[in-house]
Amino acid sequence: MAENEILIGVVPVGNLGGQFLDEIMIGIKEVLQLTFSENHDKKTICCKPIPPRPAPIPASAYQSILGKYNIEPFFDIAIELKAKADAKLSYKGRSVTKVLVITNVPLFSYTNNCSVFGEAQTDGNSAVVSLHQIEKNAGAREIKERTIKECIHELGHTFGLRHCMDKKCVMSQSSDMYDVDSKSKYFCDGCRRMLRSIEFSKDYRTWKGF
Ligand SMILES: [Zn+2]
Ligand SMILES: [Zn+2]
Repeated sequence: MAENEILIGVVPVGNLGGQFLDEIMIGIKEVLQLTFSENHDKKTICCKPIPPRPAPIPASAYQSILGKYNIEPFFDIAIELKAKADAKLSYKGRSVTKVLVITNVPLFSYTNNCSVFGEAQTDGNSAVVSLHQIEKNAGAREIKERTIKECIHELGHTFGLRHCMDKKCVMSQSSDMYDVDSKSKYFCDGCRRMLRSIEFSKDYRTWKGF
């Protein structure tokens, strides 16, 4: 059971509404469930918060010259909370597959030397998404849709996907909110196929004991 599970551990950092977070988690689960539903060994998707309450914004992250927050300490939170959650889940044979940090402060990436909506460790375990740009001049429904798209996009990177040329695909690169609004929250056929083969090859390696 646990081997067939993709568990997304969500970490809210800062002041985020509980109901909003629930809606985002439902949206993420729906897209991932659809993506993996045609697999011959069907995946169970679980998306849940891993700390009992939102984590505080890391004080060391604030860059006063930029007026923004360095994204790196948010990845540190992801690593720390994944280890804690895995320790609790291990007796059930479960573990957190990917950690998704969601915050509402503006983020800056020194790796890319620019402000970012989010960032992921490609083929790693963690992704960070900020609502700061997403929330600007937007209604509740728009904010929800944009957040789900950005979360799925960054999670796609953690599964090993790169940017996609298909403008409708959730993996297409967005440089502004117009781009985000133009794309869908779903993976294109090509990305979906790639995602399934990546996941399948991981299972195969596990099964073979490599
Ligand atoms: Zn990207
Ligand atoms: Zn694609």
